Amino acid sequence: MTHKVTLIPGDGVGPEIADATVRVLEATGVSFDWDLQNAGGEVYEKEGTPLPDRVIESIKKNRVAIKGPITTPVGSGFRSVNVMLRQTLDLYSCVRPCKSYPGARTRYENIDIVIVRENTEDLYAGIEYEKGSEGVKSIIELVEKLSDVKIRDDSGISIKPISVFGTDRIVRFAFDYARKNNRRKVTAVHKANIMKFSDGLFLEVAREVAKDYPDIEFEDRIIDNMCMQLVQKPELYDVLVLPNLYGDVVSDLGAGLIGGLGLAPGANIGEGFALFEATHGSAPKYKGLNKANPMAVMLSGVMMLRHLNETDAAVRLEDAIASIIEDGKHVTYDMKPTPNDPTAETTSGVADAIILKLK
Ligand code: NAD
Repeated sequence: MTHKVTLIPGDGVGPEIADATVRVLEATGVSFDWDLQNAGGEVYEKEGTPLPDRVIESIKKNRVAIKGPITTPVGSGFRSVNVMLRQTLDLYSCVRPCKSYPGARTRYENIDIVIVRENTEDLYAGIEYEKGSEGVKSIIELVEKLSDVKIRDDSGISIKPISVFGTDRIVRFAFDYARKNNRRKVTAVHKANIMKFSDGLFLEVAREVAKDYPDIEFEDRIIDNMCMQLVQKPELYDVLVLPNLYGDVVSDLGAGLIGGLGLAPGANIGEGFALFEATHGSAPKYKGLNKANPMAVMLSGVMMLRHLNETDAAVRLEDAIASIIEDGKHVTYDMKPTPNDPTAETTSGVADAIILKLK
């Protein structure tokens, strides 16, 4: 069977690592029909939008997509294409496994944590009002009317919505994931002691949902304590479920536990659509240098193979990647003991080595 998949190479190091990933995915013997769709800054200049409808239509048609990272201008310019994709397709859950591979350069061993990040709400919802705008003035007036809080006139405002609906479905997703993957525990992460009506709601709904899964242990942690615990005792944690912003931050912390962003894959899953991408961004300073680590996108490809029920190919590709990591010869600069190691492998060289293993 040939799988029709939307391929978004992205920008920065995206095209190089996407190309390396396509090569290893094809080397598994699984047949793909790639529907190539560009998005991002260059597309914005040509087509007036960084995310044309054709990209969304392609994913809606194929139901599965894999993408390289896309740069988001800081402070001004267009909104994040990555966030727009998740919101437009309602890809409400972001699954980011943080798993140790022997040989990876890290302070920790035997990490096996799965981060489930809510992908559509919270401070990422895109409800923002610029300093001095009519929106800010109206909100300041409204807040003063509703409470005795005075917001300074020169403020910018971002709004944090967290709903019962959004929380219920992400926490259910985390528990279902735990059940399906023989996991023992789900930890809900929040700051409910301070944000009582957003994070407080998240915690309350999580506690309710947990009652439907008596076979899975449930606990909660306050986000600051969670960060400390993950650094000190990561072995105590299994599946974490978090609102959007904490999920974003803790994903990078999780990547740090297993050897860096070059090894941290991810999947954005909604009802009927799935988009696979690494946790990391476009690392613009390495663009075109054939230097970036392609393994995080490749491991996202392993997740995609599982999603497509190509389990045998998924196991073979993951094993091939793991053996290259363990061997330590054909790995990129970020996995070498020093960043300027002259024996660091190139992006395409990593793909070549993995393809040899798959033969
Ligand atoms: P980044 O993840 O691109 O880079 C952070 C650090 O990790 C850098 O030092 C980089 O050199 C290193 N790094 C990242 N990926 C690597 C890889 N594959 N191999 C080796 N080293 C790697 O984060 P940033 O610098 O904060 O963001 C750059 C751009 O990417 C921004 O515009 C940001 O908005 C965007 N971004 C996109 C996504 C996405 O497409 N889903 C995710 C995060 C950030």
